[in-house]
Amino acid sequence: MLNASYEPLCVVSVRRAAILVLSAKAVCVADGEGVLHSARHALPVPSVVRLTRFVRVPYRSHVGLSRRAIFARDGWRCAYCRGPAETIDHVFPRSRGGGHAWENVVAACARCNHTKGDKTPAELGWRLHSAPAAPKGTAWRVLGHRAPDPRWADWLDLPEAEAA
Ligand SMILES: [Zn+2]
Repeated sequence: MLNASYEPLCVVSVRRAAILVLSAKAVCVADGEGVLHSARHALPVPSVVRLTRFVRVPYRSHVGLSRRAIFARDGWRCAYCRGPAETIDHVFPRSRGGGHAWENVVAACARCNHTKGDKTPAELGWRLHSAPAAPKGTAWRVLGHRAPDPRWADWLDLPEAEAA
């Protein structure tokens, strides 16, 4: 769902998007696949809708920390060996007081994660590809919910791994 200004706001269900369109609170700007039927209406499944009136959204500086969002931030690559990542690693181990925060979590492959155990990268002589940090930008409002629909790409500033 986009604001009247085309700024991405959040992900809503197809049902919610259809209700917004039928009540003229939003217009469909990109169709999805298929058609929704009700007693009186037939409506193409909306993929992207835009609100007809601008809503003020409080600036959200905090991006939710979810597995999917961590993988997306790190491009689905291991922070240590750059191989495909399938686990989440706490850089400074949780068992030793490391926090569950953007600055302390990275995507990691199972092998690096297992080898690392409860050691720190410094103890192993490992180097992080880049310092982990909280992601910024409007695309992050929709990441972490589900895999983005490719039809959303025009409105999102997605990382390269996402756009491919
Ligand atoms: Zn690795």
